[in-house]
Amino acid sequence: MAMIADNLQQVHRRLARACEAAARPVESVTLLVVSKTFGPVAVREAFAAGERRFGENYVQEGVDKIAALADLRPQLEWHLIGPLQSNKTRLVAEQFDWVHTVDRLKLAQRLNDQRPATAAPLQVCLQVNISGEASKSGLAPGEVAAVAQAIAALPRLRLRGLMAIPEPAPTFEAQRAPHRALRELQFALNAQGLALDTLSIGMSADLEAAVAEGATLVRVGSAIFGARPAGVTPAG
Ligand SMILES: *Cc1c(COP(=O)(O)O)cnc(C)c1O
Repeated sequence: MAMIADNLQQVHRRLARACEAAARPVESVTLLVVSKTFGPVAVREAFAAGERRFGENYVQEGVDKIAALADLRPQLEWHLIGPLQSNKTRLVAEQFDWVHTVDRLKLAQRLNDQRPATAAPLQVCLQVNISGEASKSGLAPGEVAAVAQAIAALPRLRLRGLMAIPEPAPTFEAQRAPHRALRELQFALNAQGLALDTLSIGMSADLEAAVAEGATLVRVGSAIFGARPAGVTPAG
């Protein structure tokens, strides 16, 4: 049972080393613990080890876990990092704190309309198909500026930044390239008057490369909880 705490320590050590190598303060990178496919008991263990931010891929699984952990709710931040269909936006607007996978204006408008007035604005990132893979969702880089400007005007959302799931790459340098492209896109958007402070990039296999290119939030699952059942891979 100490495995999760041990793994978390290792991940934090990796992050600290990556920050040091990039001459960045360690507080400039936030760890999002990706708990998809792992139950409330695993989340409680990570909570006991000090973690407060958790990422889920599937809306219903996330909502069930949020309910099972209702006693911790005020202390936790729940992030949706998986694909979002229009018919699930209400659950997400009502229950989550962040959504990383907004990839069209319509989705953002629904989330804005459905976000309860009593809740803080929903924090959102735009998902960008930075590797240009046909199978991946996400906005094409050239589409991002117009959508970002429109979303920035929605009062119940706060546009925080960009998210990507680059194609797996074998070397550090190859892993850096798509992360760098996303950072450059963020820079260009900020030069157009947006104030994006979040780059949601980096997973178990490439968090060092993501930190080297400016990741502010890394989404790590298997390095913390171990391998997931076959067939459950980063999707979107
Ligand atoms: C599953 C998933 C992760 C975590 O991946 P690991 O390789 O297990 O760290 C990160 N981001 C997204 C979008 C995912 O679906």
